[in-house]
Amino acid sequence: MGIDSEVKVGPDWADALAFDRAHLWHPYGSMTDPLPAWPVIGAEGVRLKLADGRELVDGMASWWAAIHGYNHPRLNRAVEDQLRGMAHVMFGGLTHAPAIELSRRLVALTPAPLEKVFLCDSGSVAVEVAIKMAIQYWQARGRPDKRRLLALRGGYHGDTFAAMSVCDPVTGMHHLFRGTLPEQLFAPRPGCRFDDAWNPSDIAGFARLIETHRDELAAVILEPVVQGAGGMWFYHPEYLRQVRALCDAHGVLLIADEIATGFGRSGRLFACEHAGIAPDILCLGKALTGGYLTLAATLTTAEVAETISRGGAGCFMHGPTFMANPLACAVAVASVDLLLDQDWQARVRDIERQLRAELAPCAALATVREVRVLGAIGVIEMHAPVDLRALTPRFVEAGIWLRPFGRLVYMMPAYVIEPQDLSLLTGAVRRVLSEIDGRGAMR
Ligand SMILES: *Cc1c(COP(=O)(O)O)cnc(C)c1O
Repeated sequence: MGIDSEVKVGPDWADALAFDRAHLWHPYGSMTDPLPAWPVIGAEGVRLKLADGRELVDGMASWWAAIHGYNHPRLNRAVEDQLRGMAHVMFGGLTHAPAIELSRRLVALTPAPLEKVFLCDSGSVAVEVAIKMAIQYWQARGRPDKRRLLALRGGYHGDTFAAMSVCDPVTGMHHLFRGTLPEQLFAPRPGCRFDDAWNPSDIAGFARLIETHRDELAAVILEPVVQGAGGMWFYHPEYLRQVRALCDAHGVLLIADEIATGFGRSGRLFACEHAGIAPDILCLGKALTGGYLTLAATLTTAEVAETISRGGAGCFMHGPTFMANPLACAVAVASVDLLLDQDWQARVRDIERQLRAELAPCAALATVREVRVLGAIGVIEMHAPVDLRALTPRFVEAGIWLRPFGRLVYMMPAYVIEPQDLSLLTGAVRRVLSEIDGRGAMR
């Protein structure tokens, strides 16, 4: 057997792939039975170029991030220009234009009360920072007992410890780290769909929990309207409005994790806009740099920031080495400007319309439970978990790149995807799914 029976590459790559399998962890990877990894030698627009010369139409935007496509001239130029000035300087005691310009934009674009910006390394860290802010806020107000979090089932907030503790308790690895993870509270997953009629009883479970535990709760954390990696679920904006009202009524902060939804993915610039609410703390990441470099941001209100700063510690207790990395900030400025310089709403709306039309036939397949679409997100929920090992090579053979998880085959292409490329993507998905049974095997 070859090194990777599914991955066909020349002899020059065989050795590299053998090293990769033997020494490199991939996300959620195994070192004894790793999944194949396809070598990529370039990427342009919505296409990934494989080492064997094939090109794949990318449906993942590298996990929600590459909203403008790959190798974009404006984003490339932003990195190159910044590189000539400085790649990085510490942010302790120093500041620079890329951080200031990015923060100006974030303050202007996000809901009005959010005006203090913490720039950090990754989405998970942005969530850690948000949780630390909430806890320090209540400490500073003389309420040290308010340090737990209330989250939603079906949520995903990252892989570091505090972030993991607020992920869905069943799918979120809690059993592996019991005793080490802080124990948080979980409300039922919102049942009412995005475009259903609002069902007032949907908030009852959440309302009971926040009322009962208000004295020990620092914050509620949720992904507004779109639950991403925890289940690709779109819920009713009224749920979010009621959460906001209940947080206010019971004296609990609201953290909105828009790391996946930020920058237009759900059809609004930020998903909170579907409900017309502002959180007390907002996390951004993923598409922030257009998928170029790792960067995230945690924004909060003057009230939260000033309360923390007047507290016993006298400061906010976080400061990463690569805080506000200038290269990442510069490309984030360019990515935000590039987004706002175009009619991105029309692009997302067109993608939504096309996804709805072209994925709908999948719902007729016996293996498919449901198809749902919101903004530039298309989801096919299967009845049974898909077998990545069987399915991924078939997608690659069909000329597309997708990375399903659990029972979900989903796509969130770059906004620049042309209609014919999107049709190529959805057509290949329809074809491959109609050829397999629920486990990804050939019928
Ligand atoms: C991806 C994601 C995170 C974690 O971000 P990383 O950059 O992978 O650490 C947190 N929250 C949500 C909603 C995400 O989609």
